[in-house]
Amino acid sequence: MSAIISKTETEEKIISYNPATGEKIGAVAQTSAAQVVNAVENSQRAFKSWRETSFKERAKFVLKAREAILNEMDEIARLISDESGKPVTEAFSAEIAPVLDLMRYFARKTPAILKPEKINIGQLGLLGRSSKIIYQPLGAVGIISPWNFPFSIPLGEVVMALMAGNTVVLKPSELTPLVGVKIGEIFRKVDLPENVLQVITGDGRTGAALVEAGVNKIMFTGSVATGKKIAGNAAKTLTPVVLELGGKDPMIVFADADLEAASSAAIWGAFTNSGQACSSVERLYVEESIAERFTAMIVAKTRKLQQNLGSIETTDVGAMVSENQLKIVEDHVADFKKSGAEILTGGKRNGNFQGTFFEPTVIAGAGNEMRAMREETFGPTLPIATFKTESEAVELANDTDFGLTASIWTKNISRGKRVAEKILAGTVMVNEVLYTHGIGQTPWGGFKQSGYGRTHGKLGLMELVAPQHIHVNRVTVLPNAWWFGYSQNAIDTFRGFARHFSSGSLFQTAKLAPQMLKRIKELRKK
Ligand code: NAD
Repeated sequence: MSAIISKTETEEKIISYNPATGEKIGAVAQTSAAQVVNAVENSQRAFKSWRETSFKERAKFVLKAREAILNEMDEIARLISDESGKPVTEAFSAEIAPVLDLMRYFARKTPAILKPEKINIGQLGLLGRSSKIIYQPLGAVGIISPWNFPFSIPLGEVVMALMAGNTVVLKPSELTPLVGVKIGEIFRKVDLPENVLQVITGDGRTGAALVEAGVNKIMFTGSVATGKKIAGNAAKTLTPVVLELGGKDPMIVFADADLEAASSAAIWGAFTNSGQACSSVERLYVEESIAERFTAMIVAKTRKLQQNLGSIETTDVGAMVSENQLKIVEDHVADFKKSGAEILTGGKRNGNFQGTFFEPTVIAGAGNEMRAMREETFGPTLPIATFKTESEAVELANDTDFGLTASIWTKNISRGKRVAEKILAGTVMVNEVLYTHGIGQTPWGGFKQSGYGRTHGKLGLMELVAPQHIHVNRVTVLPNAWWFGYSQNAIDTFRGFARHFSSGSLFQTAKLAPQMLKRIKELRKK
């Protein structure tokens, strides 16, 4: 059963607000370091029996949880929207639907992905030896998640960790704790064994305590600054970490692109979730010859977007998650203005609302030398810069500390693929933007400061297991030539190993036979 650490009278509480209205929607405990240690100990105990369960048994819980989500999908979508500010439509499209697909995929495919693998060890195999890799679960996995996709990010990782045979302690963001608690409730409803999944609420202090509490791996998604702290703390105990960090993702639009599609993609890529996606389009590079026309299309489409409360079904752009996040956007817009860029639409807080709404903002004349083009904004801004040649576009796109995703638009698919391979980012899309986190089958992760390790797909599942090499020798009657009893004869044999055996040629190796026999006889005598 998933446990929510109970409050005591002395504990602090975390209040959860709806950022669109400022209304309080709930309160949770600030879990103390001692409680975190306790949760991890419980997790380690639960691991002993959970690791023995079959893939089929684990899948049963995951598929039941999937059903439970389907049954209360509307309430869950509403909670996600209320707590994060995002439109309820995006709670369905970007969180619930993709994670349900991920749950089905890993419930069915984990056994095939983690199937033991035989290794071809070459000619040693002829001597009765064999090797294979099996995939062992790690133990208690700590998942620390952000607020921007409060349901799909942690739940996807929880499911993959459980399917691999691990137990989980999940620490959701302090800005969206109720969605995290909901994930715990769903698994409690389907009678997941006690302590196999625990949700511990709290702020960064709780997260820091989790890193140091003896977990076997940390799966972290969040900012670069926090990622660095976590990597530092985890190093003290050599706890392995996966870091899914920020981005400053470029979109390149060539003159031959389908401009209708590219302009719709650009505004969705920049403004979905109020621009608060790690893979948001934060830099748009458009070929100079079409820049004016393309920019006009973007501005016209942006002006048509409906900004409103997330609970309203026709809302395109909702509230930002917090005042702090909105202030970063204000600061970056001010930097753009100060640096000579031009605000074509938006550029300010939306005064029609009490909550944290920032207008979708299109900026022309941006350049990589501007601070706001280098730091992650994480808000509804779309700065546009121009390029003249393909190589200049690649250079501009790669001129960043980040490398999460990138998007290239051209009707010439071979050019698209050629440019894609030159971009330093974990995912590069041609004629698509932002969305592949929603395809749980594909790997997700960054280059450079966007982090290391992967979530999702086969590579993501591999982060949640320890590959174990099992090597078997079925023929023990013959002593190994390299064992003790060194002599000139041994050296001659080893010289033969170097010259003949390591050549990989059966013919060459056969030449070694007389020398090998001599050596074996020698060893037998000793
Ligand atoms: P954040 O780094 O402020 O917080 C993330 C989580 O870390 C929260 O749960 C927080 O409580 C916890 N935390 C804070 N300090 C900690 C510490 N010292 N030790 C352990 N845990 C600690 O990030 P955020 O504001 O919640 O999320 C926004 C950031 O996340 C953006 O930079 C965004 O790009 C990034 N992000 C990345 C991905 C990805 O897949 N690469 C996905 C979503 C968000």
